[in-house]
Amino acid sequence: MIDRSAAPVETALDPEQLVGLEDMDPEAFRAAAHRVVDRIADYLADVEAFAVLPPVEPGSIAAAFPPSPPDAPEPLDAILADVDRLVIPNATHWQHPGFLAYFGTTASGPGMLGEFLTAGLGQNPMLWRTSPIGTELETVVVDWLRQALGLPDAFGGLLTDTASTSTLIALAAAREAAGLDASAEGLAARELGQLRVYCSSEAHSSIEKACMTLGIGRAGVVKIPANERYEMDVAALERAIGEDREHGRRPIAIVATIGTTSSTSVDPVDAIAYVAAREDLWLHVDSAYAGAVAILPERRGPFAGWERADSIVVNPHKWLFTPLDASLLLSRRMDRPQAAFSLRPEYLRTLDREAPVLDYSEFQPQLGRRMRALKLWMQLRWFGLDGLRRRIARHLDQAQRFAAAVDADPDWERLAPVPFSTVCFRYRPRRLAGREEEPDVRAWLDEVNARLMDAVNRTGRVFLSHTRLRDRFTIRLAIGNLRTQPRHVDLAWDLLRSAAADVDDDRTKEPGDG
Ligand SMILES: *Cc1c(COP(=O)(O)O)cnc(C)c1O
Repeated sequence: MIDRSAAPVETALDPEQLVGLEDMDPEAFRAAAHRVVDRIADYLADVEAFAVLPPVEPGSIAAAFPPSPPDAPEPLDAILADVDRLVIPNATHWQHPGFLAYFGTTASGPGMLGEFLTAGLGQNPMLWRTSPIGTELETVVVDWLRQALGLPDAFGGLLTDTASTSTLIALAAAREAAGLDASAEGLAARELGQLRVYCSSEAHSSIEKACMTLGIGRAGVVKIPANERYEMDVAALERAIGEDREHGRRPIAIVATIGTTSSTSVDPVDAIAYVAAREDLWLHVDSAYAGAVAILPERRGPFAGWERADSIVVNPHKWLFTPLDASLLLSRRMDRPQAAFSLRPEYLRTLDREAPVLDYSEFQPQLGRRMRALKLWMQLRWFGLDGLRRRIARHLDQAQRFAAAVDADPDWERLAPVPFSTVCFRYRPRRLAGREEEPDVRAWLDEVNARLMDAVNRTGRVFLSHTRLRDRFTIRLAIGNLRTQPRHVDLAWDLLRSAAADVDDDRTKEPGDG
């Protein structure tokens, strides 16, 4: 029973007191929005004037902000002045054409306009009812992307925030497909044997994170060795599965990667799909970065066999120029992610049940979700598939040009094949050729390449990142930004070579000199 005996809360409100408690009024919003758009356009016009990496020390930014929030409203002028003073100069400029680190991306113009409209409409397509357009446009855009990638219409899908979430959903689906009924029964206190997920030693950390979250644990992730081209060794995969079965462990999924994060290597998906089918394991293909290349029909060689996967992730917010965030999860067994995440308390039931409706929150751990379809739809229309293809093809060409320059210089060495737009290389002066494995030469090369990269990044004109390949410090140059022209890649090469000349002038640290 509800206790109605308590005295009512004093609710008499003077209507006058409500004035000014609404949101920013539409005319004020219009004026402010124009100013913000002007700032963005100015920023993009001048972005090259910024150092790609802001020259700031950790902690110095937070210290520039007041320790407590303001009690009184502040004028927009003051707020925007601080955007100019504190926000923009302290950003890492992902929109800069010299951003060649990690996997470059771009928040494209049409994508940003889509974000803006999406924010204005305030949609939440958790249920069909809560955003019919958000839901149905997502279905349309997911299918447009599927077609663009050349995948069969057996694939359905949804848009998530990141590849990490897409892979989490895919592996939760794999757990359901394995018949564990984990979503109902849980995993704790059950005699299931150790669950096993296989990926290569080069696979992304998001696979381990998904397994940490799903009760499989890092111990359940089996890292299959890669060959000298950093591709999964399929014979080793088959052996690992066989051994696990012999020991009573429980294989559930294989994750193959097309475009690994360190070297962008390509696992032999066709052969792996054969193993997955024979062993009755879920096959998830992680192509977060490289998947975009599949929109070029003539460049689909590395994707052979991915159409046999149970699920695939491709991130439009990487190489399809969509503002963060947008990840595409496709699956030919959408009933499995649904089994993993569907739950319908009464307050989420709607009366739309005559016609079957799609409620996307049934396929993911979160309830509320962003409408990501609008920006993708605007972008696909504004660029057209042809425009996207030509832009990606240009990035692929630029990477080949850079790789050819590295190959032609006897003081530099390329450390991995270049199937996409990322080049892995290092400085190795010709006088040290053949001595790379000597311990002091190894250490010298590692240290010198780290110093080189740091010197180049400190110029502010380009930003490169690194990895380790076969335990060697490896510089990575990744092309993925719409503003990156051949001259920016040439500039990176010039800066690298002049930094190397400086290092070579400093012969005091030469290996073998003591
Ligand atoms: C970038 C990347 C990820 C992680 O992507 P998020 O969207 O940041 O979670 C996973 N796998 C591969 C191969 C990637 O390149």
